Amino acid sequence: MAFGPVRSRRLGVSLGVNNIPAKHCTYSCVYCQAGRTPKPEIERRRFFDPKTVFSQVQEKHGQLISSGGKVDYITFVPDGEPTLDNQIGSSIRLLKEIGPPVAVITNASLLWRGDVVGDLAEADLVSIKVDATDVGAWRRVNRPHGGLILERVLRGISEFASSYKGDLISETMLVGGHGQDVQGIASFLSGLGPLKKAYISTVTRPPAEASAGIPSDAELRSALRIFEENLGRGMAAVIAEHEGDLPYVGSGDLEGEVLGIAAVHPLREEALAIFVSSAGGEWGLVERLVSEGKLVVRLHGGIRYYLARGK
Ligand code: SF4
Repeated sequence: MAFGPVRSRRLGVSLGVNNIPAKHCTYSCVYCQAGRTPKPEIERRRFFDPKTVFSQVQEKHGQLISSGGKVDYITFVPDGEPTLDNQIGSSIRLLKEIGPPVAVITNASLLWRGDVVGDLAEADLVSIKVDATDVGAWRRVNRPHGGLILERVLRGISEFASSYKGDLISETMLVGGHGQDVQGIASFLSGLGPLKKAYISTVTRPPAEASAGIPSDAELRSALRIFEENLGRGMAAVIAEHEGDLPYVGSGDLEGEVLGIAAVHPLREEALAIFVSSAGGEWGLVERLVSEGKLVVRLHGGIRYYLARGK
């Protein structure tokens, strides 16, 4: 439930909160690093007790700080959609007592619901996903639950942006060969007044579908130019790099640490090797987890990644 810390691409060092079991989501994105969503869903429900979430995150935070680490954000970044959890508002309120600001990374598909808007109001930062503003690309890239309506989703995002008081950022995943309308997305984002930054990201980890290609450098440069033309200079950035080295928290449970991170973030072999050795562990641990089927290896872009089983 609490994992990491991980060096996220937008937030520095994040202590991750996985507030829903794998893999409950409203979407089944072709690029999802947590694999296909077996059955997309839109009904919110209770998954875990917020007090349990709080105590696990508090314990992990304490371990990290006492071993000399730091936490930039406590971040809801589950292997699914965090706002499907109807207790997320209570969890955010409790987690804010720990100290670091609380961030939520959401696909924004439920922001048309007043209860979701109310729950996210107290988060210090919300990152919204906008991969498409036309129905065709939305269906191709995000493969939404049949009960969602794009027009309503986009209106929900706009209304949320106009009322939210924290830091609002966006992420747009550019997927090669999926016909996304970059100009349409940039134009939509430019209408979200308080947006602090619009990130463009690419498929850097093994995707759910092999068809989810990596866009060319020329396509990325073009997208960045279009975003900056619409949003202003310095308002957009491309994040295509891999995660940095991961600091070991020192909980004494290296196997649990590896499996906890790999459940949400597929780990590059090089980063995993540094993580294990910085904890004083041996690579044999990884080999054992692979032979026991707890970790699986996948190749993406010529790089070996380790994922927790079932991803
Ligand atoms: S990328 Fe996010 S929104 Fe898309 S299917 Fe995966 S968890 Fe859901």
